[in-house]
Amino acid sequence: MQTISHWIDGAAVEGRSGRHSDVFNPATGEVQARVPLASTDEVNDAIARAAAAQPAWAATNPQRRARVMMKFGQLLNERMDDLAEAISREHGKTIPDARGDVQRGLEVVEVCMGAPHMLKGEYTNDGGPGIDLYSMRQPLGVVAGITPFNFPAMIPLWKMAPALACGNAMILKPSERTPTTANMLAEIIQEAGLPNGLLQVVHGDKEAVDAILDNETVQAVGFVGSTPIAQYIYGRACSNGKRAQCFGGAKNHMIIMPDADLDKAADALVGAGYGAAGERCMAISVAVPVGQETADRLVDKLLPRIEKLKVGPYTAGDDVDFGPLVTAEAHQRVSGLIDSGVEEGAKLVVDGRGFSMQGYENGFFMGPSLFDNVTRDMRIYREEIFGPVLSQVRAESYDEALDLVMSHEYGNGTAIFTADGDTARDFAHRVNVGMVGINFPIPVPLSYHTFGGWKKSSFGDLNQFGPDAFRFYTKTKTVTARWFSGIKDQAEFNFKPMD
Ligand code: NAD
Repeated sequence: MQTISHWIDGAAVEGRSGRHSDVFNPATGEVQARVPLASTDEVNDAIARAAAAQPAWAATNPQRRARVMMKFGQLLNERMDDLAEAISREHGKTIPDARGDVQRGLEVVEVCMGAPHMLKGEYTNDGGPGIDLYSMRQPLGVVAGITPFNFPAMIPLWKMAPALACGNAMILKPSERTPTTANMLAEIIQEAGLPNGLLQVVHGDKEAVDAILDNETVQAVGFVGSTPIAQYIYGRACSNGKRAQCFGGAKNHMIIMPDADLDKAADALVGAGYGAAGERCMAISVAVPVGQETADRLVDKLLPRIEKLKVGPYTAGDDVDFGPLVTAEAHQRVSGLIDSGVEEGAKLVVDGRGFSMQGYENGFFMGPSLFDNVTRDMRIYREEIFGPVLSQVRAESYDEALDLVMSHEYGNGTAIFTADGDTARDFAHRVNVGMVGINFPIPVPLSYHTFGGWKKSSFGDLNQFGPDAFRFYTKTKTVTARWFSGIKDQAEFNFKPMD
């Protein structure tokens, strides 16, 4: 059995706490590795070492830091297959999907190659007589990234690339369920030229996270995970005086208007609902067709597509549509939620609970499920399921459909399928959700825009990646300067405009 190490000061370091967590292969159900759970002392030690390394990195000119990003991008491309295999082995997602996981992180690295431009300050010449103002963006120092299991490459890359490009050191605490990829990323960026100590990968659970939150050296915390933990981390980080941005769970609705191309809508729903076994924060989990006829026709379109879905291990080839859930616990939770939907009166049109994979009977596989006649009060509507379950809620009108999306406590992503530009425009303007798709089911913005939800899907005021990341990982200093060429002014005592 493999024992995973922390990555400290550019080398693998064994855990010293004596506590470990099992890492499963979700396809076989076997424990394939043990990951150490860091103690408070181990975390504090990693932070102190990062703090010692950071000033020299901050003093390195931004072009040189950008060159590390360029080499890092090149190496990520070269190691794409190894990274994808490591992701699939611990997460269970298919290889093409795991490559997408790396690719969407790599695209953020590509934007960070332009860090010198993103870090440029502002300048005002002659803001007053002989007075110039300029602002500069300076790194925060040591920052932390705490990431979820479902994107083992993409989300750590969203955190580490901008943080490091801005001149910070980062403590990365990846998910204990999918820990290996973070170590690989650390090794690769070291090969790309990142000096030791600037990216410390510390594995762990609540103890390690709390140590990060309470350590005075850590200046900022970027979190991605479930909403209760996001809210907890946001509260504790802020009350300890840190900058925090914490992204949480989701319940993404897709409205299907009567004029939509239903074949395209059904294709989009199947991909966005069941892809990665529904373990995506941008998965569409609620379909809201407008009108009974649209709803009936949509179910007719969905059924043959769902029947054709191929569930299997990532090793079975590229025609597998999705793999197992990440753990037995996740499998149990999703099954329990499906049970609750049946008990509360929703119509279970397709039941994925009894699915078993020949030769992989101990794997955490679950077939696709489809519910119809779901209502607002049901648990399967209110809670994030994070499994291969699509719920259809029937709406009588566009306004009722919009109200469903607007009233839900989550606001990560949403989509509308329609042939009418006016309806689409109205939806995009009015909806209180952070990322909107128009005839596009998973509207994850490109890396030069920004990513973030609204309502209970996000705590904090800046988004991830793009220009917001450069704001989050730097602080602004503004200088007001005057050079005397003789004594032009007498002492002034009033706070007044510079005129
Ligand atoms: P999680 O909240 O269980 O874990 C996320 C991180 O928090 C992990 O590193 C974990 O070790 C740590 N953690 C867990 N419990 C903790 C506790 N009690 N105290 C301190 N730290 C704790 O989330 P997950 O199951 O790994 O990921 C799935 C969730 O993440 C879903 O809710 C999904 O919607 C969400 N997610 C959101 C986004 C987004 O951008 N909004 C992206 C991906 C995933």
